[in-house]
Amino acid sequence: MNNLYDLVVIGSGPGGYVSAIRASQLGLHTALIEKYQDLGGTCLNVGCIPSKSLLYSSKYFFFAKNHHHSHGIIYDKLSLDFEKMMKRKNEIVKKTNEGVKYLMKKNNIDLYNGIATFKKNHVISITDRKTIEDIQFKYCIIATGSKPISLPLSNFEKRKKIISSTEALSMDEIPKKLIIIGGGIIGLELASIYHRLGSQVTIIETMDRIISNMDHSLSQEIQKILEKSGIQIKTSFIIQDIVLLETNEISVYVKNKNNGKKMKYIGDYCLISIGRSPYTENLGLEHIGIQKDQKGFILVNDFLQSSVENIYAIGDVIGGKMLAHKAEEEGLYVAEHLAGQKPNKLNYNLVPSVLYTNPEVSSIGFTEKEIQNKGIEYNIGFFPMRILGIARASGSTEGFVKMLSHKKTDEILGVHMIGDHASDMIMEASVALEFRASSEDIYRICHPHPTFSESFKEAALLSFENKAIHM
Ligand code: FAD
Repeated sequence: MNNLYDLVVIGSGPGGYVSAIRASQLGLHTALIEKYQDLGGTCLNVGCIPSKSLLYSSKYFFFAKNHHHSHGIIYDKLSLDFEKMMKRKNEIVKKTNEGVKYLMKKNNIDLYNGIATFKKNHVISITDRKTIEDIQFKYCIIATGSKPISLPLSNFEKRKKIISSTEALSMDEIPKKLIIIGGGIIGLELASIYHRLGSQVTIIETMDRIISNMDHSLSQEIQKILEKSGIQIKTSFIIQDIVLLETNEISVYVKNKNNGKKMKYIGDYCLISIGRSPYTENLGLEHIGIQKDQKGFILVNDFLQSSVENIYAIGDVIGGKMLAHKAEEEGLYVAEHLAGQKPNKLNYNLVPSVLYTNPEVSSIGFTEKEIQNKGIEYNIGFFPMRILGIARASGSTEGFVKMLSHKKTDEILGVHMIGDHASDMIMEASVALEFRASSEDIYRICHPHPTFSESFKEAALLSFENKAIHM
């Protein structure tokens, strides 16, 4: 290998490997360094892909058990092979890992396995178990991602029972009683998986609502739906202590922050899902003077350039929405910028969020509260899914589309939805907001029948004229 590179990317997550591919496509001599043998970072190994594999498997089981009979599908006997479900998940992860490795080869990217540490600017040491190798770079992208935040716990032994999302995705048994601390996206997705498989799930959230950074209407509706399905949700509770009992169970002591009421919840596992912190260990940032903020995120300017001119940072390690597609877009942006193109800066307000509960939740643009805080007058188009023919035909009648548009200009400012296929449906809203469409524009587009996307057209007409065809 010629070890002087135009670009060295550290980290093979969705930010890192995507930026390496794009840079190589545009003619930069590129290397990628990853400390694990398996490529793909958090997303492929312990995040998006394994969680979605288990979400789909558990959904099929839950539907077979609870909903198929209403379609006239009767099973004599239904059983669950959890080991096989996990094995399938592992195989999907492995195949996806191999896919990324193949893409590195196909795009002539030199792959180094080992821990990357900056020795000085333009030189990185790569340490694997046996050797240390130095490579040189003109430009570098740091894409080292994040790790789960844990609560400070005195007894380390407890950790076998007090787990993070990483362990929750590789359990060898289904918890009987699972306590989840944190009602954000990851907490709710893992709650859904284990609830569907038979665990008794309790979610404890400190804020006064779950998914607190999404529109309040989504929080209210999904909480109602999840509680109806049997998940217990406790908001406004602060964790006071977590104790491992002699029975090998976990006792979680909480206090209501509004009225001081104290409660205790007992489970056989406790999942801590309270966020993720940037991962910069071993990078040797201090050797080259790269600055971080108080929480440890690498500081970057609008061009995603760190405090050292030729070193960029992208993805979870710089904070913001910790999502794979945000990391990817940042990776594409920096690669194109370094190759001399003039890419558009990412509009962070238009990074969609998706929650894979059943039904799914998705969101883009401003929330209603944000619009109110800006003092903008707005219209709301609110259309319930249950009115659609396809909702009745499929049996997925829960949820709604809420469209918010500017009262004077009719420009769509935000779209928030719950319903079957909301994870894919949000893309129509993304296109609309990127092109600054009005709600009238969307209403006048022909939408196929019968589909869930008709709810988007109806919400647009409601937002535009306060009228709907089917309501
Ligand atoms: P990462 O994917 O974290 O990759 C960083 C890589 O850098 C790692 O492979 C690490 O080993 C490597 N590395 C670190 N330090 C070094 C070093 N010094 N030398 C060499 N290599 C190093 N996002 C979504 O958009 N959709 C989802 O559905 C979704 N689901 C999720 C579910 C769970 C349970 C979790 C935990 C996360 C989920 N996410 C999801 C978030 C998503 O996984 C992250 O936002 C994304 O992986 C961030 O990408 P990244 O490239 O910044 O970093």
